[in-house]
Amino acid sequence: MLVTESLGAGPEGAARAAALLQAGRLVAFGTETVYGLGADATDPVAVRAVFEAKGRPVHNPLIAHVADADAAFALVVRTPAARALAASFWPGPLTMVLPKRPDCIVCAEATAGLPTLAIRVPSGPIAQALLRTVARPVAAPSANPSGRISPTTAAHVLDGLAGRIDAVLDCGPCPVGLESTVIDLSGERPRLLRAGGIAAEAIASVLAAAGLPELDHAPRASAAGPASPGMLASHYAPRLPLRLEADAVAGDEALLAFGTALPGAALTWNLSAGGDTGEAASRLFAGLRMLDEKGIQLGLRGIAAMRVPGAGLGPAIRDRLARAAAPRPGQPTGAGPAGG
Ligand code: AMP
Ligand code: MG
Repeated sequence: MLVTESLGAGPEGAARAAALLQAGRLVAFGTETVYGLGADATDPVAVRAVFEAKGRPVHNPLIAHVADADAAFALVVRTPAARALAASFWPGPLTMVLPKRPDCIVCAEATAGLPTLAIRVPSGPIAQALLRTVARPVAAPSANPSGRISPTTAAHVLDGLAGRIDAVLDCGPCPVGLESTVIDLSGERPRLLRAGGIAAEAIASVLAAAGLPELDHAPRASAAGPASPGMLASHYAPRLPLRLEADAVAGDEALLAFGTALPGAALTWNLSAGGDTGEAASRLFAGLRMLDEKGIQLGLRGIAAMRVPGAGLGPAIRDRLARAAAPRPGQPTGAGPAGG
């Protein structure tokens, strides 16, 4: 068992985090989306250690993080859609899946052997500085044990991974609070693989304005299999059962509210009293954790979630809630955890 170092975000902590990453160690750090578990993406030993620390299935590829678009396009092919989307959304919570360049230095372990690479330029100032100092691509899936709720604070990271990783760099709470939107640009038509921190409408309108092929919005599994290797059902799992679209709540339930909270719950976390999906996204994972922990302490039977609208970041929130509510091992009809 390792002793996980807690690093402050000052120059000393950031320098230590960069040195550890360059030495092939595992360092969690905050981005604008969630905390990522970073490893040198060019180092197969470091990347294997990420899968191991998270208990993540090795067929589920990782996102590589770099400091700017030039660093990204040294690794992947700059297609016309990639150029347009990078100009509009990087740095920011958009991940693009693109063909790897022949000279791409990211190791095969990070991409699960695929010819494509998922890549992103995060906007958090500390993450930016860290990536510039490390000066190589950093693979960083969410810094939680596979299948559990993603972390949006350094304390959440330690809850799940203390003793399994070398360090966590405290970058404060994550402002977006949901993972990046993932778009596959390796085919003829751009395709949404995962709803996330940038609304699909915003992406669709940039593509349309540039006269590029229209966004295919079908993110979920088809008969042919999951859209993306990590898109299996159960994920983000609290320990208490979660039910969706609640329009009433019992006295022995916890309530995840949106807008005007339903009366009668034992415990309530309001995602956004004013009905704002951006605010709701930023409060989602912390709320699920709080309701789960306190709910278990109080002996409650489950969490009821109110309906979240389908506009803005609503689809991304609904996606996370649907997966948090999906059957999982230990429950009567279990599908395996996807792991991320
Ligand atoms: P996470 O690291 O947990 O935020 O998840 C990253 C998501 O991106 C997972 O759903 C992966 O399956 C997906 N992903 C990563 N690389 C690729 C790729 N090359 N092709 C398709 N999907 C990918
Ligand atoms: Mg994840």
